[in-house]
Amino acid sequence: MIRLAQIEKRFGQQVVLKGIDLTIDEGSVTALIGPSGSGKSTLLRCVNLLEIPQAGTLQLGTAQIDFDRHHTPSRQQIQAIRQQTGMVFQNFQLFPHLSVLANVMEGLVTVLGWDPARAKQRAGELLEKVGMSHKADVYPGTLSGGQQQRVAIARALAPAPKVLLCDEPTSALDPELALEVVAVLKQLATEGTTMLMATHDLRLAANIARHVVFLEAGQIVESGSSQAIFTQPQQPRTLAFISTLTHKAPDNWEI
Ligand code: ADP
Ligand code: MG
Repeated sequence: MIRLAQIEKRFGQQVVLKGIDLTIDEGSVTALIGPSGSGKSTLLRCVNLLEIPQAGTLQLGTAQIDFDRHHTPSRQQIQAIRQQTGMVFQNFQLFPHLSVLANVMEGLVTVLGWDPARAKQRAGELLEKVGMSHKADVYPGTLSGGQQQRVAIARALAPAPKVLLCDEPTSALDPELALEVVAVLKQLATEGTTMLMATHDLRLAANIARHVVFLEAGQIVESGSSQAIFTQPQQPRTLAFISTLTHKAPDNWEI
């Protein structure tokens, strides 16, 4: 349902993604792992077209764009893709001046033109799902990081995107607070939410992702089932990287 073929992204002279091929099935969870600067965030941002690749093909549902460095995609083409995605950021990016409920409603009303009553109902259901309905009327600044991220997840899910893109969703959180976010993401995974997430959090990747992609210097070094990648990586570079992660992992992660 999501297909990237030979995706190339440059910033000036620097080639940050060097021909990425990746297919993500509906209902599956894929973790992107790799050293800092390997291109994980850029890859996620290319899927929702916050960054426009210079070459390659992106297909999401029935929308497809063939990138060409001499030709920028039209706003309609970009919207057709972006509307099918939701994004969760490391630092939550909630609107500080809006209540929790209004944060989740915002995109439905202003971008999609929903009737506010319908948006409010949908937002309420999503806050329930992430266990945050009791905080619907407060401002994000009064919440813990874990609570803010759960609200951000509800907001990203509001327009019922085909894929949830998560960029280091637990990295800004203390381990205890990260756990509650992992629990919410795990629940979503169980319900069949399609997810692509960049993460350093081995617990998150090993617990939730069915597939793992190891990215280094803008190229996919190895990909496979999370079981295979974490326990029997075929490439020495993958093994070296996994070892650094395992070394840092808390005692209570499961695989
Ligand atoms: P990761 O998320 O794996 O840490 P990123 O995708 O953030 O990696 O970055 C990959 C490379 O692209 C880095 O060298 C980074 O400096 C560069 N990069 C990312 N975004 C930009 C940008 N907007 N302009 C220039 N260079 C960028
Ligand atoms: Mg990143």
